[in-house]
Amino acid sequence: MKAALIGVGQAGGKLVQALAEYDARTDLGAVRGALAVNTARSDVQRLDVETMLVGQERVKGNGVGGDNQLGAQVMQDDATEVMGALDGVLTAEVEAVFVVAGLGGGSGSGGAPVLVNRLKQVYDTPIYALGILPGKNEGAMYQANAGRSLKTLVREADATLLIDNDAWHASGESLTDAFDAINETIAQRVGLLLASGEVTEGVGESVVDSSEIINTLRKGGIAALGFASADASEDAGENVNVITSTTRKALLTAMSVPDSTVADAALVVVAGDPDRISRKGVERARRWVEEETGSLEVRGGDFPLDSEYIATLVLLAGIERSDRLEAFMARAREAATQTEREDPRAAFQNEEIEDLF
Ligand code: GDP
Repeated sequence: MKAALIGVGQAGGKLVQALAEYDARTDLGAVRGALAVNTARSDVQRLDVETMLVGQERVKGNGVGGDNQLGAQVMQDDATEVMGALDGVLTAEVEAVFVVAGLGGGSGSGGAPVLVNRLKQVYDTPIYALGILPGKNEGAMYQANAGRSLKTLVREADATLLIDNDAWHASGESLTDAFDAINETIAQRVGLLLASGEVTEGVGESVVDSSEIINTLRKGGIAALGFASADASEDAGENVNVITSTTRKALLTAMSVPDSTVADAALVVVAGDPDRISRKGVERARRWVEEETGSLEVRGGDFPLDSEYIATLVLLAGIERSDRLEAFMARAREAATQTEREDPRAAFQNEEIEDLF
């Protein structure tokens, strides 16, 4: 899938850079354009991808300090300039756009939904969000910001691929120490998903193409990605269990939003040497995902790669009913009320209380 990536905020920019670097290093060729937009000069200076500083009039390059309403305002003010800068990034070959942001901060949390909204008005290509959910131990402001941002992204984007910051990092490691490792893992897994739609040679019609990723995400809402890999035998017939067990592992223990198994649609991509991929294994894995997710719309296919491993990617779409998301939204609501108690003025902006006129 030929994708353009637009990072908003610190995490958004770092992730876009990690994805672009992974794509270039592995020669997969799915990332066709990259731009990082931010309000903080110090953050953009650290990046090697094309960058753009916004909100200079309001915040003078100093960032929005976790205020996502200000982040949204800045993006509204400068949207025309940002859209102008995208001309070179959003070329005709691009099949999907990903707006990438950490949802718990300010610039990305507020700016990403606004940018998605503007992009949708102008482009016919699918506009997806790639959002990072704050870890459970991050403070109330992060949870409240992420709740509002996610709610708006779900409304605005064609789909929101969500990654929980607690999902793909080693236990015992603090979240901030782990950022680089998490970003690399995200780059590998999301990068592989994007690249899986790019291969044109291989085992004929069973190869996954971009339209299958787009059709899986068509239902909208929140999506999640799982990944697992294992050594494979040279004989495809011996790899039926390798494929089914990596699929189980990806779905049950390695989803980007943990505890999400109920979904509206899914895509199972089995990556590896075509001679090692068992058709029977792929079909069994696909049927197992159908049973486990309760979805009747589960696609399956191969991603031919030169490797001694077999890796399985499971993309789920429409996972709003997952336990983790229900718990997150409950916590975000509670955090929103808590931050209001800390700031008495905010109580007058509570959306649950209607205006008189
Ligand atoms: P912004 O620059 O105002 O948009 O704020 P950030 O991008 O720093 O957003 C803060 C949120 O993103 C917090 O929930 C952090 O946990 C998360 N975050 C910050 N940096 C990174 C990063 O490099 N990787 C990941 N995965 N998450 C990050």
